[in-house]
Amino acid sequence: MGTVTADRFEERLRSYLAESSEEARAVRVGEKETSDHAAIVARYADLFTRDQHSALAEVADAAPEAEHERLVRLREAAAGGILSLELAEAYDALQNKVLAARLEFKGEEMPLRTAQAQVALLDDYEDREELGRISGDLSATFNDERLDLMRRGEELEAELTGEPDPIRRSADLKGIDLHELSTALDRTAERQAPAWDPLRERWADRLLGDGRDDEPTSAHVAYLRRMSPLADTYTKDRAVPVCLETLARLGFDLANESRIRLDLDDRPQKSPRACVIAADPPEVVHLITRAQGGLHDYQALLHEAGHALHYAGCDPALPYTFRRLSRDHALTELYSFLVESISREPGWHAAHFDLDDDEAAERAEGTRFLEALLFRRYAAKLSYELELFADFEHATRFSEVYAETLRAAVGFRYRPDNYLADLDDGFYSADYLRAWIRSAQLRRHLRATVGEDWWERRETGELLQGLFREGTRPSSEEVAQRIGFDPLDTEPLLDELAAVA
Ligand SMILES: [Zn+2]
Repeated sequence: MGTVTADRFEERLRSYLAESSEEARAVRVGEKETSDHAAIVARYADLFTRDQHSALAEVADAAPEAEHERLVRLREAAAGGILSLELAEAYDALQNKVLAARLEFKGEEMPLRTAQAQVALLDDYEDREELGRISGDLSATFNDERLDLMRRGEELEAELTGEPDPIRRSADLKGIDLHELSTALDRTAERQAPAWDPLRERWADRLLGDGRDDEPTSAHVAYLRRMSPLADTYTKDRAVPVCLETLARLGFDLANESRIRLDLDDRPQKSPRACVIAADPPEVVHLITRAQGGLHDYQALLHEAGHALHYAGCDPALPYTFRRLSRDHALTELYSFLVESISREPGWHAAHFDLDDDEAAERAEGTRFLEALLFRRYAAKLSYELELFADFEHATRFSEVYAETLRAAVGFRYRPDNYLADLDDGFYSADYLRAWIRSAQLRRHLRATVGEDWWERRETGELLQGLFREGTRPSSEEVAQRIGFDPLDTEPLLDELAAVA
């Protein structure tokens, strides 16, 4: 079968990704009930062949350094396309089943997706337990299909790369040592534990009430993230104007940025998880959220704005590859983590919510509780994932490891049968965790160079704009070096997470 040059491949890949992004967007936001991704990838089948993959691998190996990186990313995109082509129908089938799944709660029928969003909104402790249980039961019925898909994906990736070990494969691509990262994070979590325990007790009491279990189920975590009992302060209506104003102080005009298309509507089938879909950056970037009320709306919107501004802010003169493709997500998550972290500044709460200094400090402590909860959860997830993928053949044996590792880290009980649904592809957890480390380093850098009020200063926006212009090209570790940190230096992160109010 014929192959095309790397440049031609890049050009057609762009059309493919633009089309498939639009399809993913339509399903995600509930405009479409079923996904037709399989049909789209089938139209580009000539692009995603083993011959094309080998041809790109060959030119990448032979290329001078300046060109090597672009070709490696194109080779990876070819591998991703082959995976899509061979698994798209099965993925679509599973996704469509999940979309069609309905459950009954208090005599009312609702889609599984809606139920998962609803758990965060119920003010009654027992109601959350019950809806969490029912939706968890329903979600677990898809586990065989999830595992089957993962197995097929594993086999295919092993074949394409010639590397049977999924951990080494992922580490090679990310250019880091995953075990070393995990060890550094476990040590950080351990050192943070003395600060975490009282913080957890105080905020779990405050947000869940006195009648709570010692170790509540994970059904309450989404409720905590909304800071639901404080939802009167963080209303649904103000999320957009407050976030726009927050970004304006940095010098970003999101509302008038024609490259970023905002979808803030509420639709029953819209996924409750906010996201950015960079369909054709920098020109077409979708930012999607579904406000439900509560602080989480603000944090999610700021987080996604970080991604959107990154993609929409890249230099249009960069090759397409460096506007859209990356080896992993650690760099773009650095930007989203940094922008989201503004919501942990006491000054931000005081400025936007009419709170006095004590109240603002207390709210900021609440956000630090959430941050520590999530950090500890992800550090635990990575260590579970490393165990799982070290012996993926026996994946089903690791459901208890999943539940126990997470419980021990955060003090909430996770369902063992959630061990596959709570997994993102390609060790995404490691990308988040690198962003945790890096964004704390960058904040320390900003505090030192811009000032304590870095979160409302134009200089911060200017520094970010400079980084955004480089698109997806630098690695997260390169950014660490530029600001003078060792990539695994977790001191700035530990300082923030262990701070006492
Ligand atoms: Zn993100």
